Amino acid sequence: MIVTIDGPAGAGKSTVASRLAERLGFRYLDTGAMYRALTWLAMHEGIDLGEGQRLGELARESRVELDESGRVLIAGSDVTAAIRQSRIDRMVPVVARHPEVREVMRERQRELAELGDAVIEGRDIGTVVCPNADVKVYLVAERQVREQRRQTERPDIGADALATDLRARDDSDRARMQPAEDAEVIDTSDLDVENVVDRIEALVRARLVA
Ligand code: C5P
Repeated sequence: MIVTIDGPAGAGKSTVASRLAERLGFRYLDTGAMYRALTWLAMHEGIDLGEGQRLGELARESRVELDESGRVLIAGSDVTAAIRQSRIDRMVPVVARHPEVREVMRERQRELAELGDAVIEGRDIGTVVCPNADVKVYLVAERQVREQRRQTERPDIGADALATDLRARDDSDRARMQPAEDAEVIDTSDLDVENVVDRIEALVRARLVA
């Protein structure tokens, strides 16, 4: 069974998706981490982030590895912590918007999905990567709540800069931030993690029974 969890930054995707995967005994796949790792590598190698074709080649040459303990590896480097810096937040949509990059990433994500039970989080999973997923969820939250959540994860940046970055990232990601028609939209603004996970788990159990 494939469960997709899409939505904007700060809506709670990662926390909810990893907790849900743990409860269900499914694999957890963070597709944002794949785009982040590629962005880290491109910046590390000094590649022009406007060069879609070069970045697509880099993605093909340098497979992102996501291990079971949540570590993210690319080109022999453990980038688990480095990809959560605000400088990566800022540049990842610039890399992710190139069709050449998306083609490689989506191919990999589909291969990983085909391995069986998984909770997959991202932006375009329910719409493009796994349109036939069994359960699709789209998480949203009020902007202020999203900013506050992000701030606790990004002590390296002030509140104003963080708000500006989040807005810029939403604008860049907007083209891919549509809920699938058959997705359950959940507003997490006033819900705690366990509540959200309970609701999605109920959808999964209902689907399993059906
Ligand atoms: O989910 P996360 O904030 O880690 O994603 C980082 C960035 O990667 C997003 O802002 C977006 O630009 C890109 N992304 C994407 N498609 C996905 C997942 C992430 O374009 N499926």
